[in-house]
Amino acid sequence: MHMVRKANKDAMDPALERELMTELTRLRDELCGAAKGFCVSLDNRQNLGLFRIFSNISIDKWRAVAKRLDLTGWLTLPIDRDIYPHLTTLQESLERLAYESEHDALTGLANRRAFERTLDLEIERARRAKTVMSLSIIDLDHFKSVNDTYGHPVGDQVLMRLSEIINREKRRYDLAARIGGEEFALIIPGAGQVKTRVMLERMLELISRENFAGENGENFSVTFSAGVTSFRGTSDISVSELVALTDKALYKAKENGRAQVQLAPLPEMETVPRQSLVHANEKKFLFTGKK
Ligand code: GH3
Ligand code: MG
Ligand code: MG
Repeated sequence: MHMVRKANKDAMDPALERELMTELTRLRDELCGAAKGFCVSLDNRQNLGLFRIFSNISIDKWRAVAKRLDLTGWLTLPIDRDIYPHLTTLQESLERLAYESEHDALTGLANRRAFERTLDLEIERARRAKTVMSLSIIDLDHFKSVNDTYGHPVGDQVLMRLSEIINREKRRYDLAARIGGEEFALIIPGAGQVKTRVMLERMLELISRENFAGENGENFSVTFSAGVTSFRGTSDISVSELVALTDKALYKAKENGRAQVQLAPLPEMETVPRQSLVHANEKKFLFTGKK
């Protein structure tokens, strides 16, 4: 009796697949460094589309290969007479790339880029309307030892759980972002220090009541420290100055024994000279991550 092997219509000729993979990964490594993923940055003018025609590959075959080999940064457009469905595919790919460029892959929260853009807009809005807004920066306590003791994947679960709590407890129009490894930020339009503190303390209580299990089943819990700054829209302040003040309050929370929320003094330009808030180098670091 013959064994009949069902042909997978999405399978690509292995030799062709190898050739394609070699070309694309070499190109990516040359252009982006050996970084995994893709290096497309959608917020500046340094972007380039490269066109390459491959014959004898259907869109379904490409999708199957791209998914398996993590080549998801490549946009593909089939060339035939009926272009309309393919434009829809292209539009979906662009929407996905736009989403990925503003969101953190692990937690689904906004990323640092989206955070900075939104904070800039909200500061401007508060200044124009003379309304209040608050910023909070949240940093998990002793997180390095969580990773060292229970393993990195367990650490990732803690990050995801905290993100869920932040996302659930914030109001709909607050922006929650992951701005560093174990550092989060909340932009809270229309709320002052008191309301913000209450919200943050509820989040702290919820995360500290969570029971986590390490890789060997051992139980542990975590806490965070947070700094809060409120801005009344009556003074002139920049994104980096507001972030620097909030960071300072966060350090105070750490120094004071962690697992707490600390409020920064209100940034009043009459009493705090602008130049003394943030040095030029710190500003550069806040925006570019480079010293
Ligand atoms: P502190 O209370 O002073 O904030 O101490 P800390 O240990 O939290 O601070 P530190 O900055 O020394 O350590 C941060 C740690 O966060 C180090 C790094 O291993 C971990 N980390 C950063 N990003 C990730 C991530 O994506 N996943 C996991 N699991 N850990 C991460
Ligand atoms: Mg940190
Ligand atoms: Mg920390």
